[in-house]
Amino acid sequence: MMQISAEEIARTLPISECIDVIEAAMKAVSAGSTLQPLRSIMPVGDGNAMGIMPGAMGEPPVHGMKLISLYPDNPKRGLSSHQGVMMIFDTDNGTPIACLDASELTALRTAAASAAATRALARPDSRALAILGAGEQADHHLPAQLSVRDFSEVRVWTRTHANASKFVDRHSGLAADIAAYQTAREAVAGADVVVTVTASPDPILEGAWLEAGQHINLVGASVASAREIDDAGVASGRFFADTRSGAEVQAGEYLGALKSGAIREAHLLGEIGEVYAGTLPGRISADDITIYKSLGTAAQDLAAGYEVWRRLTA
Ligand code: NDP
Repeated sequence: MMQISAEEIARTLPISECIDVIEAAMKAVSAGSTLQPLRSIMPVGDGNAMGIMPGAMGEPPVHGMKLISLYPDNPKRGLSSHQGVMMIFDTDNGTPIACLDASELTALRTAAASAAATRALARPDSRALAILGAGEQADHHLPAQLSVRDFSEVRVWTRTHANASKFVDRHSGLAADIAAYQTAREAVAGADVVVTVTASPDPILEGAWLEAGQHINLVGASVASAREIDDAGVASGRFFADTRSGAEVQAGEYLGALKSGAIREAHLLGEIGEVYAGTLPGRISADDITIYKSLGTAAQDLAAGYEVWRRLTA
């Protein structure tokens, strides 16, 4: 069995090349050809948790499980907030084929998934990108988003302004016009695509700030008790999720808006894989606000992990 490090993952599967892998996986999810039991999240004290995510793909022939510790304060210790391993097995003979670093794999596949959603839902003429949050996910989302639209301007906001400035310094080579903003509202005004990648439990994005034609990727909240956009924001857009089954129990934004009566169940139009397959309309008009709710799925980990292993063993 192969042991695959974070560095090997990053070197072997660049984000821009992971986007098609994830799009294909999400089509398979929506076509019903994968197995994805609902993930379990087990609290382990002090606000930390352990996530257990099993799954199986039909094509490629791989199944497996991600075991991941979620430690939100880890960045203060210089560690990723996601620590863990992804075990993948050959479905033809049941043997384990690789154990991959789950921190890098998670960041890679999540950013690739958002980029695929932007590619499908954002206006083709999108030029300004706003990123709310400046941690590990933001670091991966920036190059991923840049690879699917011709952005000429990048704005970043995070709770701690000094971290937004550090983000700008880290990525100044990727975009000519990249700037740190003092408020989320200013960063979002006039942006064509907005990405939320914070660990905030409460909304950092308000519906009142949204403008016609924007596309929003909601990525940071992955449990029912957390949300990054308010009810008005959820209600304002054509709303898609990575999986319907996950969104119905773990998407805090959708569940909160349902509970308050701001939306009804039908507001969740369907899964992003249906949009990729052409069976569900995505953006209908240039003025639509479109929203992609990302919770993350085992199929994304399996597909990206398998592709890394396949390239390394080819
Ligand atoms: P990091 O710890 O590297 O970065 C966290 C970011 O969130 C920082 O910008 C931080 O701001 C901000 N933040 C933290 N707490 C708050 C708060 N209370 N209010 C406002 N902002 C806050 O985490 P990652 O980048 O790795 O992950 C970001 C989020 O994405 C996490 O919640 C994670 O669980 C989620 N995630 C979702 C996935 C999916 O598939 N949808 C997959 C992987 C992660 P500051 O500048 O102050 O540090």
